[in-house]
Amino acid sequence: MNGSAESLRGRLHSLGFDEVRFASAAAPPSSGLTGWLGAGMQADMHWMERSAGKRLDAAAVLPGVRSVIMLGVNYWDGRPTPEDGRPIWARYAGHADYHDTLKPALVAAGKILESDLGIAPEDYRYYVDTGPVLERGWAARSGLGFIGKNAMLISRTHGNWLLLAAILVRAEIEPDPAIRRAEPARAAPNGVGLLCGSCTRCLDACPTQAFSAPGVLDARRCISYQTIENKGMIPRALRTAIGTRIYGCDVCLEVCPWNRFAQAGRGILLEVRDGITGLSLREILTLTPGRYAEVFRGTGVKRLKLTGLLRNACVAAGNSGDRSLLGELVALAAHPAALVRAHAVWAVRRLAPAEWDRLLANPRLSEADGDVLEEYAAV
Ligand code: SF4
Ligand code: SF4
Repeated sequence: MNGSAESLRGRLHSLGFDEVRFASAAAPPSSGLTGWLGAGMQADMHWMERSAGKRLDAAAVLPGVRSVIMLGVNYWDGRPTPEDGRPIWARYAGHADYHDTLKPALVAAGKILESDLGIAPEDYRYYVDTGPVLERGWAARSGLGFIGKNAMLISRTHGNWLLLAAILVRAEIEPDPAIRRAEPARAAPNGVGLLCGSCTRCLDACPTQAFSAPGVLDARRCISYQTIENKGMIPRALRTAIGTRIYGCDVCLEVCPWNRFAQAGRGILLEVRDGITGLSLREILTLTPGRYAEVFRGTGVKRLKLTGLLRNACVAAGNSGDRSLLGELVALAAHPAALVRAHAVWAVRRLAPAEWDRLLANPRLSEADGDVLEEYAAV
Protein backbone atom coordinates (compact mmCIF):
# COMPACT_ATOMS: atom_id res chain seq x y z
CA MET A 1 0.00 0.00 0.00
CA ASN A 2 3.04 2.25 0.19
CA GLY A 3 2.66 3.61 -3.33
CA SER A 4 -0.90 4.64 -2.53
CA ALA A 5 -0.03 6.90 0.41
CA GLU A 6 0.34 10.08 -1.66
CA SER A 7 -2.79 9.38 -3.65
CA LEU A 8 -4.70 8.73 -0.41
CA ARG A 9 -3.35 11.96 1.07
CA GLY A 10 -4.60 13.89 -1.93
CA ARG A 11 -8.03 12.29 -1.83
CA LEU A 12 -8.47 13.03 1.90
CA HIS A 13 -7.18 16.57 1.47
CA SER A 14 -9.85 17.16 -1.17
CA LEU A 15 -12.52 16.26 1.40
CA GLY A 16 -11.59 19.39 3.33
CA PHE A 17 -8.87 18.14 5.70
CA ASP A 18 -6.02 20.65 5.67
CA GLU A 19 -3.49 18.15 7.03
CA VAL A 20 -3.31 14.45 6.26
CA ARG A 21 -0.46 12.49 7.83
CA PHE A 22 0.23 8.83 8.50
CA ALA A 23 1.75 7.15 11.55
CA SER A 24 2.75 3.60 12.27
CA ALA A 25 0.77 2.04 15.10
CA ALA A 26 3.55 -0.42 15.89
CA ALA A 27 4.10 1.18 19.31
CA PRO A 28 2.04 3.71 21.27
CA PRO A 29 3.15 7.35 21.16
CA SER A 30 4.88 8.59 24.28
CA SER A 31 2.59 10.38 26.68
CA GLY A 32 2.56 11.41 30.30
CA LEU A 33 -1.02 10.20 30.64
CA THR A 34 -0.50 7.73 33.49
CA GLY A 35 1.34 10.22 35.69
CA TRP A 36 -1.12 12.98 34.81
CA LEU A 37 -4.08 10.86 35.82
CA GLY A 38 -2.26 9.66 38.93
CA ALA A 39 -1.87 13.27 40.03
CA GLY A 40 -5.61 13.86 39.62
CA MET A 41 -5.12 16.62 37.06
CA GLN A 42 -8.08 15.38 35.02
CA ALA A 43 -10.40 16.86 37.70
CA ASP A 44 -13.76 15.08 37.49
CA MET A 45 -13.32 13.95 33.88
CA HIS A 46 -13.47 10.35 35.07
CA TRP A 47 -14.08 9.08 31.56
CA MET A 48 -10.39 9.79 30.96
CA GLU A 49 -9.44 7.27 33.66
CA ARG A 50 -11.92 4.72 32.38
CA SER A 51 -10.57 4.99 28.83
CA ALA A 52 -6.88 5.24 29.77
CA GLY A 53 -6.12 1.63 28.83
CA LYS A 54 -7.49 2.19 25.34
CA ARG A 55 -5.77 5.55 24.96
CA LEU A 56 -2.44 3.96 25.77
CA ASP A 57 -2.98 0.99 23.47
CA ALA A 58 -4.63 1.60 20.11
CA ALA A 59 -4.92 -2.18 19.64
CA ALA A 60 -7.37 -2.19 22.53
CA VAL A 61 -9.58 0.08 20.40
CA LEU A 62 -9.04 -1.74 17.10
CA PRO A 63 -7.23 -5.08 17.48
CA GLY A 64 -4.69 -5.54 14.73
CA VAL A 65 -4.37 -1.80 14.03
CA ARG A 66 -1.25 -1.06 11.99
CA SER A 67 -1.57 2.58 10.97
CA VAL A 68 -3.15 5.79 12.20
CA ILE A 69 -4.30 8.43 9.73
CA MET A 70 -4.16 11.83 11.39
CA LEU A 71 -6.34 14.57 9.96
CA GLY A 72 -6.23 18.25 10.82
CA VAL A 73 -8.72 21.02 10.09
CA ASN A 74 -7.42 24.58 10.31
CA TYR A 75 -9.89 26.78 12.17
CA TRP A 76 -7.87 30.00 12.32
CA ASP A 77 -10.14 32.85 11.23
CA GLY A 78 -8.01 35.93 11.80
CA ARG A 79 -10.66 37.38 14.12
CA PRO A 80 -9.13 39.59 16.84
CA THR A 81 -9.84 38.70 20.46
CA PRO A 82 -12.26 41.29 21.91
CA GLU A 83 -10.64 43.74 24.29
CA ASP A 84 -13.67 45.96 24.80
CA GLY A 85 -15.46 44.03 27.56
CA ARG A 86 -17.42 41.81 25.18
CA PRO A 87 -17.44 38.17 26.25
CA ILE A 88 -14.51 36.16 24.97
CA TRP A 89 -15.21 32.76 23.44
CA ALA A 90 -12.74 30.04 22.60
CA ARG A 91 -12.12 30.46 18.89
CA TYR A 92 -13.69 27.16 17.88
CA ALA A 93 -16.95 28.04 19.67
CA GLY A 94 -17.90 30.40 16.86
CA HIS A 95 -18.66 27.39 14.67
CA ALA A 96 -21.29 24.69 14.56
CA ASP A 97 -20.20 21.67 16.60
CA TYR A 98 -17.14 20.36 14.74
CA HIS A 99 -17.83 16.84 15.95
CA ASP A 100 -20.87 17.01 13.68
CA THR A 101 -19.42 18.96 10.76
CA LEU A 102 -16.33 16.74 10.46
CA LYS A 103 -18.27 13.50 10.65
CA PRO A 104 -19.61 13.40 7.06
CA ALA A 105 -16.05 13.91 5.79
CA LEU A 106 -14.86 11.02 7.97
CA VAL A 107 -17.61 8.84 6.57
CA ALA A 108 -16.45 9.84 3.08
CA ALA A 109 -12.84 9.12 4.08
CA GLY A 110 -13.92 5.63 5.12
CA LYS A 111 -15.54 5.08 1.74
CA ILE A 112 -12.25 6.11 0.07
CA LEU A 113 -10.36 3.57 2.19
CA GLU A 114 -12.85 0.93 1.08
CA SER A 115 -12.96 1.80 -2.62
CA ASP A 116 -9.36 2.81 -3.27
CA LEU A 117 -7.47 0.59 -0.87
CA GLY A 118 -9.84 -2.33 -0.49
CA ILE A 119 -10.08 -1.94 3.28
CA ALA A 120 -13.17 -3.54 4.77
CA PRO A 121 -15.51 -1.36 6.89
CA GLU A 122 -14.68 -3.39 10.01
CA ASP A 123 -10.95 -2.73 9.47
CA TYR A 124 -10.96 0.95 10.29
CA ARG A 125 -12.46 3.21 12.93
CA TYR A 126 -12.52 7.00 13.11
CA TYR A 127 -12.71 9.47 15.98
CA VAL A 128 -13.05 13.21 16.38
CA ASP A 129 -11.65 14.41 19.67
CA THR A 130 -13.94 12.45 21.98
CA GLY A 131 -12.71 8.89 21.37
CA PRO A 132 -10.14 6.94 23.43
CA VAL A 133 -7.30 7.96 21.13
CA LEU A 134 -4.16 9.98 21.93
CA GLU A 135 -4.70 12.34 19.02
CA ARG A 136 -1.89 14.72 19.91
CA GLY A 137 0.59 11.89 20.43
CA TRP A 138 -0.29 10.27 17.11
CA ALA A 139 -0.22 13.66 15.39
CA ALA A 140 3.31 14.26 16.71
CA ARG A 141 4.32 10.74 15.64
CA SER A 142 3.03 11.49 12.13
CA GLY A 143 4.96 14.77 11.89
CA LEU A 144 1.76 16.82 11.76
CA GLY A 145 3.27 18.99 14.47
CA PHE A 146 4.91 18.81 17.86
CA ILE A 147 3.50 19.03 21.36
CA GLY A 148 4.31 22.44 22.79
CA LYS A 149 4.91 23.45 26.37
CA ASN A 150 1.23 24.48 26.31
CA ALA A 151 0.40 20.76 25.92
CA MET A 152 -1.20 21.45 22.54
CA LEU A 153 -0.32 20.12 19.13
CA ILE A 154 1.50 22.87 17.23
CA SER A 155 1.78 22.76 13.48
CA ARG A 156 4.64 24.57 11.77
CA THR A 157 2.11 25.57 9.11
CA HIS A 158 -1.07 26.29 11.06
CA GLY A 159 0.22 27.14 14.53
CA ASN A 160 -2.12 26.17 17.33
CA TRP A 161 -5.30 26.19 15.30
CA LEU A 162 -5.99 22.65 14.19
CA LEU A 163 -8.92 20.42 15.05
CA LEU A 164 -7.78 16.82 15.01
CA ALA A 165 -9.42 13.61 13.89
CA ALA A 166 -7.93 10.12 13.68
CA ILE A 167 -8.64 6.99 11.67
CA LEU A 168 -7.24 3.72 13.00
CA VAL A 169 -6.64 1.27 10.18
CA ARG A 170 -5.75 -2.43 10.03
CA ALA A 171 -3.49 -1.85 7.05
CA GLU A 172 0.07 -0.73 6.48
CA ILE A 173 0.35 2.82 5.14
CA GLU A 174 3.80 4.27 4.64
CA PRO A 175 4.34 6.45 7.73
CA ASP A 176 5.40 10.09 7.56
CA PRO A 177 8.45 11.11 9.56
CA ALA A 178 8.04 12.83 12.92
CA ILE A 179 9.58 16.29 13.32
CA ARG A 180 13.19 16.15 14.40
CA ARG A 181 15.62 18.84 15.49
CA ALA A 182 18.95 19.19 13.76
CA GLU A 183 20.77 20.00 16.99
CA PRO A 184 20.37 18.09 20.29
CA ALA A 185 16.80 18.66 21.44
CA ARG A 186 16.03 20.68 24.52
CA ALA A 187 12.66 19.00 24.68
CA ALA A 188 11.53 16.77 27.52
CA PRO A 189 12.01 13.02 26.95
CA ASN A 190 8.40 12.68 25.78
CA GLY A 191 8.99 15.28 23.06
CA VAL A 192 7.11 18.13 24.77
CA GLY A 193 8.48 21.48 23.69
CA LEU A 194 10.50 20.05 20.81
CA LEU A 195 10.49 23.31 18.86
CA CYS A 196 9.76 25.69 21.75
CA GLY A 197 13.39 26.45 22.49
CA SER A 198 13.71 28.74 25.51
CA CYS A 199 10.23 30.26 24.99
CA THR A 200 7.88 30.10 27.97
CA ARG A 201 5.21 32.56 26.79
CA CYS A 202 2.29 30.16 27.23
CA LEU A 203 3.36 29.14 30.73
CA ASP A 204 3.82 32.77 31.76
CA ALA A 205 0.58 34.04 30.20
CA CYS A 206 -1.84 31.51 31.69
CA PRO A 207 -4.26 33.57 33.80
CA THR A 208 -4.69 30.81 36.39
CA GLN A 209 -1.17 29.32 36.45
CA ALA A 210 -2.59 26.00 35.30
CA PHE A 211 0.71 24.49 34.14
CA SER A 212 2.44 22.49 36.84
CA ALA A 213 5.39 21.94 34.46
CA PRO A 214 6.02 22.53 30.76
CA GLY A 215 3.42 20.49 28.88
CA VAL A 216 1.62 19.44 32.06
CA LEU A 217 -1.76 21.13 32.33
CA ASP A 218 -3.73 20.78 35.55
CA ALA A 219 -7.33 20.81 34.34
CA ARG A 220 -8.52 21.76 37.83
CA ARG A 221 -6.97 25.21 37.34
CA CYS A 222 -7.72 25.59 33.63
CA ILE A 223 -10.38 28.04 32.48
CA SER A 224 -11.33 25.76 29.59
CA TYR A 225 -12.12 22.96 32.01
CA GLN A 226 -13.89 25.24 34.49
CA THR A 227 -16.12 26.95 31.93
CA ILE A 228 -16.89 23.93 29.73
CA GLU A 229 -16.38 20.57 31.42
CA ASN A 230 -17.13 21.51 35.03
CA LYS A 231 -20.87 21.33 35.49
CA GLY A 232 -20.83 22.60 39.08
CA MET A 233 -19.47 25.55 41.00
CA ILE A 234 -16.46 27.39 39.62
CA PRO A 235 -13.94 27.66 42.48
CA ARG A 236 -14.09 31.14 43.95
CA ALA A 237 -10.28 31.43 43.91
CA LEU A 238 -10.24 31.15 40.09
CA ARG A 239 -13.17 33.38 39.16
CA THR A 240 -11.41 36.73 39.01
CA ALA A 241 -8.68 35.36 36.73
CA ILE A 242 -11.31 34.12 34.29
CA GLY A 243 -12.00 37.71 33.29
CA THR A 244 -14.69 37.95 30.62
CA ARG A 245 -13.91 34.52 29.13
CA ILE A 246 -17.31 32.97 28.86
CA TYR A 247 -16.55 29.66 27.18
CA GLY A 248 -13.08 28.20 27.08
CA CYS A 249 -9.77 29.99 26.93
CA ASP A 250 -7.24 30.44 24.15
CA VAL A 251 -4.58 32.44 26.00
CA CYS A 252 -1.89 29.75 25.93
CA LEU A 253 -2.63 29.20 22.25
CA GLU A 254 -2.78 32.85 21.20
CA VAL A 255 0.56 33.87 22.68
CA CYS A 256 2.46 31.15 20.84
CA PRO A 257 4.89 32.57 18.27
CA TRP A 258 4.28 29.59 15.97
CA ASN A 259 0.92 31.16 15.10
CA ARG A 260 2.69 33.71 12.92
CA PHE A 261 2.51 31.17 10.12
CA ALA A 262 -1.23 30.59 10.44
CA GLN A 263 -3.40 31.54 7.48
CA ALA A 264 -7.20 31.57 7.48
CA GLY A 265 -8.42 28.06 6.73
CA ARG A 266 -10.46 26.84 3.79
CA GLY A 267 -13.38 26.31 6.15
CA ILE A 268 -14.78 23.46 4.08
CA LEU A 269 -15.62 21.40 7.15
CA LEU A 270 -16.60 24.28 9.41
CA GLU A 271 -19.83 26.22 9.67
CA VAL A 272 -19.44 29.72 11.08
CA ARG A 273 -22.13 30.88 13.49
CA ASP A 274 -21.85 34.66 13.53
CA GLY A 275 -24.67 35.04 16.03
CA ILE A 276 -22.62 33.62 18.89
CA THR A 277 -19.52 35.75 19.21
CA GLY A 278 -21.50 38.94 18.62
CA LEU A 279 -23.68 38.46 21.71
CA SER A 280 -23.21 41.03 24.44
CA LEU A 281 -22.97 40.03 28.08
CA ARG A 282 -26.36 41.62 28.70
CA GLU A 283 -27.92 39.54 25.94
CA ILE A 284 -26.45 36.37 27.43
CA LEU A 285 -27.52 37.22 30.98
CA THR A 286 -31.10 37.62 29.75
CA LEU A 287 -31.27 34.56 27.48
CA THR A 288 -34.52 32.67 27.73
CA PRO A 289 -34.58 28.89 27.22
CA GLY A 290 -36.18 29.43 23.81
CA ARG A 291 -33.64 31.99 22.64
CA TYR A 292 -30.78 29.85 23.99
CA ALA A 293 -32.00 26.84 21.99
CA GLU A 294 -32.36 29.00 18.89
CA VAL A 295 -28.89 30.59 19.05
CA PHE A 296 -26.90 27.54 20.12
CA ARG A 297 -28.69 24.75 18.26
CA GLY A 298 -26.11 22.47 16.67
CA THR A 299 -23.14 23.99 18.52
CA GLY A 300 -20.86 22.59 21.20
CA VAL A 301 -22.11 25.29 23.59
CA LYS A 302 -25.47 23.51 23.66
CA ARG A 303 -23.92 20.78 25.84
CA LEU A 304 -23.22 23.37 28.52
CA LYS A 305 -26.96 23.97 28.89
CA LEU A 306 -28.45 27.36 29.67
CA THR A 307 -27.67 27.18 33.40
CA GLY A 308 -23.99 26.53 32.65
CA LEU A 309 -23.78 29.46 30.26
CA LEU A 310 -25.56 31.75 32.74
CA ARG A 311 -23.11 30.63 35.44
CA ASN A 312 -20.21 31.62 33.19
CA ALA A 313 -21.92 34.86 32.18
CA CYS A 314 -22.30 35.82 35.85
CA VAL A 315 -18.57 35.34 36.40
CA ALA A 316 -17.75 37.34 33.26
CA ALA A 317 -20.19 40.10 34.26
CA GLY A 318 -18.71 40.25 37.76
CA ASN A 319 -15.29 40.77 36.20
CA SER A 320 -16.48 43.22 33.53
CA GLY A 321 -16.57 46.28 35.79
CA ASP A 322 -19.85 47.17 34.08
CA ARG A 323 -22.24 48.17 36.85
CA SER A 324 -25.03 48.62 34.32
CA LEU A 325 -25.32 44.82 34.42
CA LEU A 326 -26.30 44.84 38.11
CA GLY A 327 -30.02 44.75 37.30
CA GLU A 328 -29.64 41.56 35.26
CA LEU A 329 -27.42 40.00 37.92
CA VAL A 330 -29.81 40.82 40.74
CA ALA A 331 -32.58 39.18 38.70
CA LEU A 332 -30.40 36.07 38.24
CA ALA A 333 -29.81 35.95 42.01
CA ALA A 334 -33.42 34.70 42.12
CA HIS A 335 -32.99 32.21 39.26
CA PRO A 336 -34.54 28.75 39.82
CA ALA A 337 -31.12 27.06 39.53
CA ALA A 338 -28.95 27.37 42.65
CA LEU A 339 -25.85 27.18 40.41
CA VAL A 340 -26.86 30.41 38.67
CA ARG A 341 -27.98 32.10 41.89
CA ALA A 342 -24.67 31.42 43.62
CA HIS A 343 -22.57 32.91 40.80
CA ALA A 344 -24.95 35.85 40.41
CA VAL A 345 -24.52 36.68 44.10
CA TRP A 346 -20.74 36.55 43.66
CA ALA A 347 -20.96 38.89 40.66
CA VAL A 348 -23.19 41.41 42.44
CA ARG A 349 -20.84 41.43 45.41
CA ARG A 350 -17.85 41.97 43.11
CA LEU A 351 -19.46 44.77 41.11
CA ALA A 352 -21.07 46.54 44.07
CA PRO A 353 -19.06 45.74 47.21
CA ALA A 354 -20.57 48.63 49.16
CA GLU A 355 -24.23 47.93 48.43
CA TRP A 356 -24.55 44.29 47.49
CA ASP A 357 -26.46 43.38 50.67
CA ARG A 358 -29.05 46.08 49.94
CA LEU A 359 -29.37 44.94 46.33
CA LEU A 360 -29.73 41.31 47.36
CA ALA A 361 -32.00 41.86 50.37
CA ASN A 362 -34.52 39.19 51.34
CA PRO A 363 -33.18 36.21 49.43
CA ARG A 364 -35.41 33.16 49.63
CA LEU A 365 -33.00 30.52 50.84
CA SER A 366 -33.33 27.06 52.31
CA GLU A 367 -30.79 24.69 53.82
CA ALA A 368 -30.57 22.98 50.43
CA ASP A 369 -29.03 26.14 48.97
CA GLY A 370 -25.60 25.44 50.47
CA ASP A 371 -23.57 26.93 47.62
CA VAL A 372 -25.75 30.04 47.51
CA LEU A 373 -25.54 30.51 51.27
CA GLU A 374 -21.77 30.29 51.03
CA GLU A 375 -21.71 33.10 48.48
CA TYR A 376 -23.69 35.34 50.84
CA ALA A 377 -21.44 34.42 53.74
CA ALA A 378 -18.09 34.59 51.92
CA VAL A 379 -15.59 37.07 53.33
S1 SF4 B 1 -6.53 27.31 28.32
FE1 SF4 B 1 -6.21 29.22 29.50
S2 SF4 B 1 -6.42 28.65 31.65
FE2 SF4 B 1 -6.12 26.73 30.45
S3 SF4 B 1 -3.93 26.39 30.50
FE3 SF4 B 1 -4.32 27.58 28.65
S4 SF4 B 1 -4.07 29.73 29.29
FE4 SF4 B 1 -4.26 28.52 31.14
S1 SF4 C 1 4.25 29.78 23.50
FE1 SF4 C 1 6.41 29.24 23.34
S2 SF4 C 1 6.71 27.66 24.92
FE2 SF4 C 1 4.51 27.84 24.55
S3 SF4 C 1 4.04 26.26 23.04
FE3 SF4 C 1 4.43 28.17 21.91
S4 SF4 C 1 6.63 28.11 21.42
FE4 SF4 C 1 6.28 26.58 23.00
